[in-house]
Amino acid sequence: MSSQHAIPSYLQPAGIGAWGIYLEQIDRVTPHLGPLARWVETLKRPKRILIVDVPIARDDGTVAHFEGYRVQHNTSRGPGKGGVRFHPDVSLPEVMALSAWMTIKNAAVKLPYGGAKGGIRLDPKTLSHAELERVTRRYTSEINVIIGPNKDIPAPDVNTNEQIMAWMMDTYSMNLGSTVSGVVTGKPVSLGGSLGRQEATGRGVFVVAGEAVSRRGLDIRDARVCVQGFGNVGGVAARLFAAAGARVVAVQDHAATVVRESGLDIAALQAHVRENGSVAGFPHAEEMRDPAQFWSLDCDILVPAALEQQITEANAPRIKAKIVVEGANGPTTPQADDILRECGVLVVPDVIANAGGVTVSYFEWVQDFSSFFWSEEEISQRLTRIMRDAFQAVWTLAEEKNVSLRTAAFIVACTRVLQAREVRGLYP
Ligand code: NAD
Repeated sequence: MSSQHAIPSYLQPAGIGAWGIYLEQIDRVTPHLGPLARWVETLKRPKRILIVDVPIARDDGTVAHFEGYRVQHNTSRGPGKGGVRFHPDVSLPEVMALSAWMTIKNAAVKLPYGGAKGGIRLDPKTLSHAELERVTRRYTSEINVIIGPNKDIPAPDVNTNEQIMAWMMDTYSMNLGSTVSGVVTGKPVSLGGSLGRQEATGRGVFVVAGEAVSRRGLDIRDARVCVQGFGNVGGVAARLFAAAGARVVAVQDHAATVVRESGLDIAALQAHVRENGSVAGFPHAEEMRDPAQFWSLDCDILVPAALEQQITEANAPRIKAKIVVEGANGPTTPQADDILRECGVLVVPDVIANAGGVTVSYFEWVQDFSSFFWSEEEISQRLTRIMRDAFQAVWTLAEEKNVSLRTAAFIVACTRVLQAREVRGLYP
């Protein structure tokens, strides 16, 4: 390898983490990119990485330091766009991978954005409300230099919500001296947020699941569904599946797995989680002793909607579902992908399946710019159309090329990103 192509050490996968998975996905799509493959290296290097120290005063008067990141993976097609995660496992390679998947996702559904992501390594459960506000505001100030409505627009992800977005928007606006609502999406509706944003990702999961179910000749009303992760994505998706007549037979979260053969009462389960912080102890279901058995449950649709690398070589052979719809980002390793394909399991990849959130974030951003707000019905209709069109385009290409839906989605997305790269040319 020539020295000008030497890969910096922080870009090399240490084991098979999320960044390693992403790199392997790019290697798999490269042979399908034709002459554009000459630009593929650009997808393996984030454009900009910012690591920040986030010090705060704790309520007890001590000072605590947290490590935060904002990575702009690619901005060839538009400003960076992607969520902010608060989690004890957040690391630079993870944020790099999540930012890269945003590049792919935004291009796959044709939103005029590049890809970005941020995060702070912390356990929000150990912080008071006031400490969480201070950490959010200090982090926002630290990344202030690279975000903005035309540069990079954060949004919620794991353990962040509309309150955190409101603090981010306020901090950015205070630093600038004027109110800038378009700097983040996923804000409260009272602050320029969009109707339907909170449930958009789960709704998108449900819409593409419906597309996959009909192409497999199944009926959603007879479907048995298992959901891992019962937060913003998994909780909403589970509710919509149940409302459509499907039986949600199992839900797993960080603390427990609850199972009910005749179908869980999702509204009651959500109320239980609101009160208790987890599905553990839900009285109207059985609790599974060994959480690993979740993956062997008999079901038609499996929705991983928690974290990365949940479906691996170890549990993929045991999966009985006919369709896996990836609500989470990066839940399936490439090796598990191969196993599922060999077993005839249809995997609807994250970059299509969970794109509903960023799609309605895009609507929010557009509404903020024009200061003209749409009805929930308009939003839901436009979201459904974009999700169905993206699914159809990827499905057709997958059939044409006899590749998985993931490879097809990557072909569509990488082609769009690299065409933009090529036509813009290299500066200077
Ligand atoms: P959230 O914080 O609202 O919920 C996360 C859920 O996962 C919780 O129920 C939690 O208990 C569960 N969980 C955590 N660790 C777990 C473990 N080890 N095993 C089982 N369950 C576990 O987060 P969210 O916003 O729903 O995000 C979930 C996934 O969806 C993430 O991969 C995220 O990147 C992705 N995603 C989110 C959005 C969005 O709009 N929020 C959009 C696209 C993709």
